[in-house]
Amino acid sequence: MQRHRVAVIGAGFGGLFAIRALRNAPVDITLINGTAYHLFQPLLYQVATGVLSEGEIAPPIREVLKRQDNVDVKLGWAQHVDTENKVVSVSGPGIDYTVEYDTLIVAAGASQSYFGNDQFNDYAPGMKSIDDALELRAKIFGAFEIADLQTDPEAQERWLTFVVVGAGPTGVEMAGQIAELAHRNLPGQYKHIDPRKARIILVDAVGAVLNTFGDHLSTRALRQLHLMGVEVELNTKVVDVDLNGIEVESERGHQRIPSMTKVWAAGVAAPPLARQLAESAGAETDRAGRVLVQPDLTIPGHPEIFVLGDMMNLAGPDGRPLPGVAQVAIQGGKYAADVIERRLRRKPEPKPFKYFDKGSMATISRFSAVASVGKFRLSGFFAWLMWLAVHVFYLVGFKNRFTTVLHWAVSFLGRGRSERVATEQQAFARRAMKHYGDPYQLVRAAHEADAAGQINPAPTDADVSAGMPAEKHPAGVAAPEKATVAPEKATVGK
Ligand SMILES: Cc1cc2nc3c(=O)[nH]c(=O)nc-3n(C[C@H](O)[C@H](O)[C@H](O)COP(=O)(O)OP(=O)(O)OC[C@H]3O[C@@H](n4cnc5c(N)ncnc54)[C@H](O)[C@@H]3O)c2cc1C
Repeated sequence: MQRHRVAVIGAGFGGLFAIRALRNAPVDITLINGTAYHLFQPLLYQVATGVLSEGEIAPPIREVLKRQDNVDVKLGWAQHVDTENKVVSVSGPGIDYTVEYDTLIVAAGASQSYFGNDQFNDYAPGMKSIDDALELRAKIFGAFEIADLQTDPEAQERWLTFVVVGAGPTGVEMAGQIAELAHRNLPGQYKHIDPRKARIILVDAVGAVLNTFGDHLSTRALRQLHLMGVEVELNTKVVDVDLNGIEVESERGHQRIPSMTKVWAAGVAAPPLARQLAESAGAETDRAGRVLVQPDLTIPGHPEIFVLGDMMNLAGPDGRPLPGVAQVAIQGGKYAADVIERRLRRKPEPKPFKYFDKGSMATISRFSAVASVGKFRLSGFFAWLMWLAVHVFYLVGFKNRFTTVLHWAVSFLGRGRSERVATEQQAFARRAMKHYGDPYQLVRAAHEADAAGQINPAPTDADVSAGMPAEKHPAGVAAPEKATVAPEKATVGK
């Protein structure tokens, strides 16, 4: 007899904890995830600044779940949920497929929001993926290298100016780490620049750093940032971003900050799948595109569909939506698994989901963090130790915990950075990939050709560099216009 089928979209905190909690349930689980790894997003900024390797924060999903027999892991991006027929359509690497379900858990997280200015993304990467972090690493370390080659002081200053947009935890942590690089790790390694002269500017439209941590910790964090040499521009709105700089507006008027390295750490929005799911299920979404769920985390009229974590909107005790943090997703995942198992074992449903706030924390520099736990407000070294313990605890896998602690020792006790390798592909591939569109288009074309008995219809590298137009190519795949990436590279040395 066929067992109850649970499809899970997303192997982030919500999806993974739901699956683990279902390990002994009489269900067959299909996990659909866009990447082959689980991503521990809270430490992305350390990958971007060379403290950790990407592998330490992104263990392979198959390895994480290798002892759980009731899961089938499938690589691909869920595109569409047909809530009537209970089918998920997935775009895999060069192959499309569908997954049928009896119960669906959707935990596809959030994407970066540029508040309607998606073009900013070309010059100010966000902090949501390994690609983002590696691109930023290449840009940050590359900026010091290129600055060292400049003879024009203005160009040198532009390369040594780093702007971080968004003074929430991610922005504060990022600005703090760049400041540590400039003031602690890199000095003494360049002949023509003094890295300590780098400007690190943290910009936010609101009037406080770490706004959600309350006045006391916000003031502490601001003071620590100032001590580290970070310039904090509050009540300042970003109005434009281009290759050479960023334009801001504040009560002091319009200002241009020349800077080659910008980081976007402001704003999140639910992925497009959330809206599609809501439309199909007749559910509502909020302004950020998150799906409004009932207290049992299901969509109204669809007890078989759970939406978790960053993608859901559920009001907390204060009437405001629960925050987009890991614990909301983890606890939601465990709760959904409990509901599913109880239903199958014909036990009464549990009480409505209640989020237990374990507190929040952010690091500002080595040995300095702020933490808000219940009524307690902590800052400084003790808060940093707490941060350390919590992050080691929630990292997935013993190997990752071990090597992460080693790398932290290198960076925090010594003056090194273990992961400074940055390649040109990391720095420039985003623009090339945008130009190509679906990177698996070539694989699809090859599959179609194979089915049609053709041999090699996909464009070769020679076609691509010759700029062969799509309509002329047998597979109909557009070759890129030439020199899409080159102009940015060409400006590098100016
Ligand atoms: C830079 C950064 C720092 C953060 N720091 C902290 C912190 O210090 N503390 C804290 O509590 N929280 C932090 N957060 C927030 C925390 O990471 C999220 O709240 C949490 O990851 C949400 O879990 P989730 O399961 O909803 O989504 P995610 O963990 O984002 O997982 C979503 C998964 O879905 C996959 N996916 C997305 N779309 C699709 C699709 N269409 N098809 C298939 N798969 C898909 C993704 O590949 C991903 O694996 C941080 C977030 C970021 C970005």
